[in-house]
Amino acid sequence: MNTKELDTKYVLPTYARVDVEFVSGTNATITDSNGRKYIDFTSGIGVVSVGHANARVNAAITTQISKITHTSNLYNIAPQAKAAQKIVEASGYDMQCFFGNSGAEANEGAIKIARKWGESQGEIKKYKIITLQNSFHGRTITTVKATGQEAMHNYFGPFPDGFVYADNIAQVASLLDDHTCGVMIELVQGEGGVQPQNKEEVQALEKLLKKKGILFIVDEVQTGGYRTGAFLASQVYEITPDIVTLAKGIGGGVPIGVVMTSIKNALVAGDHGSTFGGNYLSTVATCEVLDILKEYKQSGDLEINTLYFNKAVKKLYDTNKDIFTSQVGLGLMCGLRVKDAQTLTRIISHAKENGVMVLKAGRNTLRFLPPLTITQEEIDEGFKSLQSAISSL
Ligand SMILES: *Cc1c(COP(=O)(O)O)cnc(C)c1O
Repeated sequence: MNTKELDTKYVLPTYARVDVEFVSGTNATITDSNGRKYIDFTSGIGVVSVGHANARVNAAITTQISKITHTSNLYNIAPQAKAAQKIVEASGYDMQCFFGNSGAEANEGAIKIARKWGESQGEIKKYKIITLQNSFHGRTITTVKATGQEAMHNYFGPFPDGFVYADNIAQVASLLDDHTCGVMIELVQGEGGVQPQNKEEVQALEKLLKKKGILFIVDEVQTGGYRTGAFLASQVYEITPDIVTLAKGIGGGVPIGVVMTSIKNALVAGDHGSTFGGNYLSTVATCEVLDILKEYKQSGDLEINTLYFNKAVKKLYDTNKDIFTSQVGLGLMCGLRVKDAQTLTRIISHAKENGVMVLKAGRNTLRFLPPLTITQEEIDEGFKSLQSAISSL
């Protein structure tokens, strides 16, 4: 049986897979099982931030796995401690990290931290967490309930109590009460449609939460790791959250999730844990990814490339105003709103036929999440193919 046949017979059909199988890649260029090359504007949904088969990351991983891969968290783990230091220093915040394996797990950690902190704040138990409509925080029972999308709340109840959805940032204030322990938002909603929040509104919310003694939790699973120009989108928005979560891009392809908080010793022995979280494999890769991206940012090349990419998006938008209604996003998390969902589906399929992989977000957003290290040649080629795809609709 070929891969598709095996997949159909043995794997639960939780994904509407595109029928293509990639076998190798270099930076933002990927090759399928027929030897055909494509430009990758997806980076595995914002994961392969330093490109496919990055030589430095591969060298770091192979050096590590020839020594030791896993010991459990009962012992000191050098690359975990180093990764924590790199993450905290890159953030500029005075925080401590906990390592898990995914974005959902990072958000679970954030919710546990907020709830435990909420228990310690006097007589009234603070447990409620406000999130936004159209948000996405993960697929576990708790994080799916934290996600403000009714369509994702089928079948799986009863859910943990205490999640309240605000229509938008401005509405959050009216939902806070004595039981609220935190507000959790994405600064740029990814799955919801590449929608950046308004900076002034976010800063006003931060002020309000500080005044009321409520935790500000920022889900940077998609925005983090230099995706929006700085290490964290929180830095772009010039805020100081109490809890930040990271995953996707900081591992460059290895599974990792991080929750970091300024609440010192927020969780202690017995409160939380993970078998795989922060092991040698994932954290040695993350250390290398963070070093690469820090150098890339400091050299100015990240900014140059981000501008170049966004100019190409703008040109595509300007050339096809009959199809696109607006340009959205921040940094290399960007998109174009398409006039209707049906046209978007056709663009994505034609794009693949023309040799460029793109994503959908929300109902009608064409989404670009390229490797941050994508070259200008790859950008040019990708957008040329995309224009051909659109012209052939
Ligand atoms: C992808 C994503 C998650 C979930 O991450 P997983 O690794 O799939 O569990 C959570 N929050 C945001 C903002 C995401 O983009």
